[in-house]
Amino acid sequence: MMKRSELLDQIKQDPQVDVLIVGAGINGIGTFRDLALNKVKTLIVDRADFCSGASTASSHMAHGGIRYLENGEFRLVQEAVQERNRMIENAPHVVKPLPTSIPIFKFWSGLLNAPFKFLNLLDKPAERGAFVIKFGLILYDSFTRKQKTVPRHQFFGRKESLRRYPRLNSKVQFTARYYDGQILSPERYSLDLITDAMAEGPHAKALNYVSLAHAEPGKVTLRDELSGEEFAVAPKILVNAAGPWIDPVNKAMGIDKKYIGGTKGSHLVVDNPELRKAIGTDEFFFENKDGRIVLIFPFYDKVIIGTSDLPIDDADSARCTPEEEKYFIDLVARVFPDVPVKQDQIVFRFVGVRPLEYSHAKTAGQITRDHSIKEDGIGDLPVLSLVGGKWTSYRAFSAQATDLCLSLLKLKRKKNTESIGIGGGKDYPKTEADKASTIDYVAEKAGLPKEDVAILFDRYGTRCLPVARAVAAEGNKALKSLPNWKVGEVYFLIEQEMPLHMEDLLLRRSTLGWLGQVNKDVLEEMADLFAEKFNWNSAEKKKEIDRTVVVFKDLHGVTIR
Ligand SMILES: Cc1cc2nc3c(=O)[nH]c(=O)nc-3n(C[C@H](O)[C@H](O)[C@H](O)COP(=O)(O)OP(=O)(O)OC[C@H]3O[C@@H](n4cnc5c(N)ncnc54)[C@H](O)[C@@H]3O)c2cc1C
Repeated sequence: MMKRSELLDQIKQDPQVDVLIVGAGINGIGTFRDLALNKVKTLIVDRADFCSGASTASSHMAHGGIRYLENGEFRLVQEAVQERNRMIENAPHVVKPLPTSIPIFKFWSGLLNAPFKFLNLLDKPAERGAFVIKFGLILYDSFTRKQKTVPRHQFFGRKESLRRYPRLNSKVQFTARYYDGQILSPERYSLDLITDAMAEGPHAKALNYVSLAHAEPGKVTLRDELSGEEFAVAPKILVNAAGPWIDPVNKAMGIDKKYIGGTKGSHLVVDNPELRKAIGTDEFFFENKDGRIVLIFPFYDKVIIGTSDLPIDDADSARCTPEEEKYFIDLVARVFPDVPVKQDQIVFRFVGVRPLEYSHAKTAGQITRDHSIKEDGIGDLPVLSLVGGKWTSYRAFSAQATDLCLSLLKLKRKKNTESIGIGGGKDYPKTEADKASTIDYVAEKAGLPKEDVAILFDRYGTRCLPVARAVAAEGNKALKSLPNWKVGEVYFLIEQEMPLHMEDLLLRRSTLGWLGQVNKDVLEEMADLFAEKFNWNSAEKKKEIDRTVVVFKDLHGVTIR
């Protein structure tokens, strides 16, 4: 990947672009990749790091949203189920089939309420019984009958449920088990899309830490958030993909519209081996006592618990509160009453704002998760706001945005993205034997032991060869503070994936922060490696370390010790 300073110089020298995308969350990045594949001259900017807004805070599910069936959103669910399957097929290195279990405590409940919910007449969530859930799952399976990417649902009685999950609440009557997908790293997925897009040629450029400052007809002013310098670009179309910040970004351009009515959602990552064992391979997806749908799911050797859905006006103020934390800890007892979760087992917290379309719905659960494009303009510059959507349906939404850009530019689509492999998901081995031979091949080419390559394969999929070469170039040297991380790997990420602050690497080029693996020694050693590549002096290094400590504490409730 080209250096940021070179990219900035090129843009200043040639400020004309066909499309400027403001906001590098998944919807902006998906549109960037699609436009890049179609050879449209495109610049994407984000005021912070790539995939650091709502897109990093999702529940990590590639799902159709079975719950939305009761709101009557069949189009949305059908599209999302198909897109879920495409994600599993196109990015198998990060999106894995996820068995999902719904523990059910009643048989008939919800049957009378269902039609009222469907007609939006019921404001309070109502407990769903076995009959309603079975009906929903038959419908859900029917949307994906032909593709067979994941198995159909199953239903188990009480005895079989307790045999499969011995720690489950013994009051359970049934469990329903169906499959969705888990996005193990939304950030890796996003970075891979950016890398693929930029590999299409110099017509596609991506810059993090560059914000939209203001705009007037013919001229859009961007600000480099590192240097404070402002510079102008002249796009033919502006795509506002700022997610929960769509309204303020429009306002900065003089467009005064209320498109977003965001809701906040938080999650905890807990280190609780007992709970991790109790859930096994499955996500548990169930109604809490108050009728809210909540989830507990496996995340490497940890467990994620979530989520809330609370209206919020200022997306920048979103934090996981002590009340939410207590709610999450308590909800585990509904399904696993004898598996205690303690506060000191929390290793990470994450929070984000769903960029939902502004609505008068009576409850957050009733607001549509569907997506739409709002068309405005400044002078003759069209401004397209990408409102709403789900992570899972990003590709379809991006294709819709790309089609609109192509038609405004009077261009024809050359490629579509339905079945193009993504990053390390390209040519991904289909069997364990194929995986072993891929690892053998990379080990031989790079001159590294197979065990080390296997770790890199798990992190980067089929993109692991260039990483392995970078590791070998540094003599396969490991970090003292993190023995299964290599010096060459960190250098590779710094040079190829544009992390500008240490937290970009610790939270988004890797899962180290998420898994509670960042301590003071890790921070010091990483800072040395960054200092080497960025020529930081000791004061700059200290400033970065202090910044990382503050970011972990303020946004993730983590004290780095
Ligand atoms: C708690 C939670 C759970 C969710 N769970 C799921 C799930 O399990 N499955 C699913 O499919 N979906 C889920 N979603 C929904 C999904 O995550 C979002 O719909 C999606 O990530 C929205 O992406 P986006 O690109 O529109 O917004 P964002 O990811 O927020 O991107 C917008 C970007 O704009 C940037 N920006 C803001 N202002 C400026 C400016 N002035 N200049 C430049 N850049 C700017 C921000 O920094 C940000 O990076 C969840 C969302 C949340 C919050």
